[in-house]
Amino acid sequence: MDSITTKNCTIHFNNICYSSLNEHIKKKNFSKIFILVDENTHQYCLPYFLEKLETTIAIEIIEIESGEINKTIDTCVGVWNTLSELNADRKSLLINIGGGVITDLGGFVACTFKRGIAYVNVPTTLLSMVDASVGGKTGVDLGHLKNQIGVISNPDLVLIDTRFLSTLPQNQMRSGLAEMLKHGLISDENYWNKFQDLSKLSLDDLDELIYESVIIKKNVVEEDPFENGLRKTLNYGHTLGHAIESYFLSNPNKTTLLHGEAIIVGMILASYISTELVGFPKQIAHHIKTLFVDYYGKVTINKSEYAPIIELLKYDKKNNHGNINFVLLENIGKPRIDCLVDDNVIIDAFEFYAS
Ligand code: NAD
Ligand code: ZN
Repeated sequence: MDSITTKNCTIHFNNICYSSLNEHIKKKNFSKIFILVDENTHQYCLPYFLEKLETTIAIEIIEIESGEINKTIDTCVGVWNTLSELNADRKSLLINIGGGVITDLGGFVACTFKRGIAYVNVPTTLLSMVDASVGGKTGVDLGHLKNQIGVISNPDLVLIDTRFLSTLPQNQMRSGLAEMLKHGLISDENYWNKFQDLSKLSLDDLDELIYESVIIKKNVVEEDPFENGLRKTLNYGHTLGHAIESYFLSNPNKTTLLHGEAIIVGMILASYISTELVGFPKQIAHHIKTLFVDYYGKVTINKSEYAPIIELLKYDKKNNHGNINFVLLENIGKPRIDCLVDDNVIIDAFEFYAS
């Protein structure tokens, strides 16, 4: 696995992570190093990371509480205050070690503190390795609205050390895997074909697959940095997936669904809709459903819940000039963006999922 460079930012994998970081620190002459973690990455990832870090520069650890609920401007204020109290200056470096919550929030803190200090991201969940690591999106939530405040900015380096996945809970692994499956469906049949036996995937197989997934996302983002076209394909499964995720989150009777678990349902629904509207082969839609349900199980969505979930799509609609735009598939690796879908077809898709 080589390093991947995009937009002045290099993504390093496994063995070369730490030599590259140590070299970078030497070259840049930072005044102080701050490391942002949550309680889990403090326990599971920081000790190994510190062993590998070779520097005489002073290091301060800043810990915030884990969870999306803490991805807020209030948490940023706490981190900005701590940086200030610990005399961080414009030559300081912030290293964010954690999942997407830490890298999104830490990236935002770094590029706003004193109008911007250098930062390095060390994604430690599968989702943050294959998704949040590329594209420069940083930010926080505003109340219930996700990622409403933020800026686009790239870290100096991204370090993907897949060893950190060994402590990641299984449900978080499966959630991240959903984004890799999405990368296969929207862009590359060969890559997709490597996921045909999900239960047999080992951490060793994942190394190469993670690397390829990062390349797929990088290529999409580079071709369409302003999200006018191709980048929208990364939303495959996300239109209905987000609505299902929000519905489950706001409904105390439902089990909690992680982002990737909701996206899996969204991708099955979108593959059915694709057969109806853009000629996606029916047998592939059936195959996707079987493959995903065998591995992820089936989420119970009652008939009476179809309407409130479809209602939630209207939030996306408001943000999109009145249109609910789906990404559909003409075939594996052949996505079509900006597709309008009638409510009746969505209901048929729910029936297909339930059957
Ligand atoms: P997360 O950051 O909440 O991490 C999930 C859980 O895993 C947390 O409890 C965390 O403490 C724990 N954890 C992290 N690494 C661990 C490890 N190695 N061992 C044990 N536990 C570990 O969630 P996530 O799924 O990584 O990220 C979700 C966030 O990412 C969302 O806020 C989303 O908006 C954002 N995101 C951003 C982008 C982007 O382009 N910037 C893309 C996708 C998602
Ligand atoms: Zn996603």
